[in-house]
Amino acid sequence: MLGEKVTISVIKADIGSLAGHHVTHPDTLAAAAKVLSEAKRKGILIDFYVTHAGDDLELIMTHRRGVDDPEIHGTAWNAFKEATKVAKELGLYASGQDLLSEAFSGNVRGMGPGVAEMEIEERPSEPIVVFMADKTEPGAFNLPLFKIFADPFNTAGLIIDPRMHEGFKFQVLDVYEGKSVTLSCPEEMYDLLALIGTTGRYVIKRVFRKSDELQAAVVSTERLNLIAGKYVGKDDPVAILRAQHGLPALGEILEAFAFPHMVAGWMRGSHYGPLMPVPEKYSKCTRFDGPPRIVGLGFQVKNGRLVGPADLFDDVAFDETRRLAQIVAEYIRRHGPFMPHRLGPEEMEYTTLPQVLEKLRDRFVEVKVATKAIIRRSEMLSGEERVD
Ligand SMILES: [Mg+2]
Repeated sequence: MLGEKVTISVIKADIGSLAGHHVTHPDTLAAAAKVLSEAKRKGILIDFYVTHAGDDLELIMTHRRGVDDPEIHGTAWNAFKEATKVAKELGLYASGQDLLSEAFSGNVRGMGPGVAEMEIEERPSEPIVVFMADKTEPGAFNLPLFKIFADPFNTAGLIIDPRMHEGFKFQVLDVYEGKSVTLSCPEEMYDLLALIGTTGRYVIKRVFRKSDELQAAVVSTERLNLIAGKYVGKDDPVAILRAQHGLPALGEILEAFAFPHMVAGWMRGSHYGPLMPVPEKYSKCTRFDGPPRIVGLGFQVKNGRLVGPADLFDDVAFDETRRLAQIVAEYIRRHGPFMPHRLGPEEMEYTTLPQVLEKLRDRFVEVKVATKAIIRRSEMLSGEERVD
């Protein structure tokens, strides 16, 4: 017997941080919590939890108003505004950075904050995980979500559990074109991988269990640089996943993060580095503003109430992952401003690098070349014409 519908909304923004971009100030969290507390008292929210991932202020909320609800988004917006006031009073770095507009217009999407929301029919026991990453982008979830929901070497349940055996469907968003495609695994696995390997463009937005369309995961997919047209910080992503009872077990979800894969972000949103899973106490990005980090909080949702959290990466079982991440970080850092540590030219387009290159434009002179120049576009998947 399923329960009443409940919506889990995770809305986040970087509204300013302490001593650079590495960690939030506790007073900003308190200011946001005060707004949510008032919304809970008024019955708008059932429950909430305020925390941070590095310099990002994270609002985890439950309610019965569905996704994209103006009241919920307005509450989050007010929380960020109040927190920004405190950030400005304290002179925190980049105060109000992610709030791209002065006036709220009913929905925070496109206004700066990142949003992951899922309306669910609460199961008698409803374990969820909220993942929050800093110094990276939404595509950072592509690899772990693929492993969790499509790779039997990660998730034994895909083989063993009859409720999962049919597989999962992935909704993939093209963040440049604003289009989406849904692909089914295992049968379309290679097509899925052909897209989601391009993490800066194709992003897994939602995952559904194929047998009954039950939604199992959602990721925030806002891309601040495309929204703002200029670089205003990497759009550090959040995700909500449901666990157990015919879905991947909690341990199968976490297992995907035991490999610190390379993600885009880190210093100035312009570098690749390993994604390091950490407990909340280590959720601060210090070395070269990183390396990129991810925090995982486990809750039970009961009648909309958030029971918990459990700080899931606060476990010695992830020590070796962290050690490997540090070794990889040390190795790739030695490349300095060279690719592949620094991002490629398409991604750098939204940073301040083009201003530097512009200065050199008039200093290039023609040279005689023996062979015809070859122009080969790197974004082959974009459908743009290729000239060979
Ligand atoms: Mg951040």
